Amino acid sequence: MNTGFNNKVALITGSAKGIGKSTAQIMADQGANIILTDIDKEALDKTYDEFHDKGYHVKKILVDLSHKEGVEQLINTTVEEFGRIDILVNNAGILLSSSIEDTTDKMIDLTIDINLKAVLYAIRAVTPIMKKQNYGRIVNLASITGKRGDNSTTFVYGSTKGAIITMTRSVARQLGPWGITCNAIAPHAVMTEMMNYWTDEKKQTMADKIPVKRLGTVEEMAQLISYLASDQAGFITGETININGGYYMD
Ligand code: NAD
Repeated sequence: MNTGFNNKVALITGSAKGIGKSTAQIMADQGANIILTDIDKEALDKTYDEFHDKGYHVKKILVDLSHKEGVEQLINTTVEEFGRIDILVNNAGILLSSSIEDTTDKMIDLTIDINLKAVLYAIRAVTPIMKKQNYGRIVNLASITGKRGDNSTTFVYGSTKGAIITMTRSVARQLGPWGITCNAIAPHAVMTEMMNYWTDEKKQTMADKIPVKRLGTVEEMAQLISYLASDQAGFITGETININGGYYMD
């Protein structure tokens, strides 16, 4: 059994389902203490029960990350419970579809609050904790849209993901001296709940355009996130790694 995350404390936002859940599963399997956290109570309870039954070390925190208070409560509760935070995966996010002229103020605010501001608040709150530990791993979820722009989704989504890429570099530069790394991944075409708006026809068309001729899986995303969050990845920082079957390369 791989025990690479033994005794590490890992906080993964949006971990009730999708990429976040799969990441939590890998780290829990390798001995981490996992804080499952999400706004979706039903999914959170279900994932918690599943993990608990497997004997994983797991806590759950129901939270709405669209408010600063929610983010701070999440970090504070984790530290009260475990005394440290080794790994922060900023995974929670929303994606709304709209043309530019139909994008409402509410869509702009909510997307920025969850996809961008919550990440800034979370990183600010874990910084003194990780500095004190002289250790930390931060992994952010960017997107292909943060590099090449949105296609059919609202243009605020890609804006937040582009900001995540820049933020990842800033955090890497500023926190490196304390043994803290910060990286991001830029996925594309992974069929989670977020991507329900893709019809079967769209999935096929997209798969045909991807050099490896298929869509991605949550496990593939989770493996990369877990590697970046591991001790072995200590010399990688400030990077945003494409994971898209070769659809976009830079
Ligand atoms: P998902 O919808 O399955 O997971 C997102 C999770 O975030 C959900 O469990 C959701 O309940 C949670 N969440 C949403 N709003 C929240 C809030 N206010 N407070 C707390 N939790 C909240 O989607 P996913 O595909 O697993 O997405 C994970 C990350 O990957 C996102 O940041 C997304 O932008 C990014 N991403 C996904 C793809 C893809 O193809 N699926 C591509 C690029 C980037």
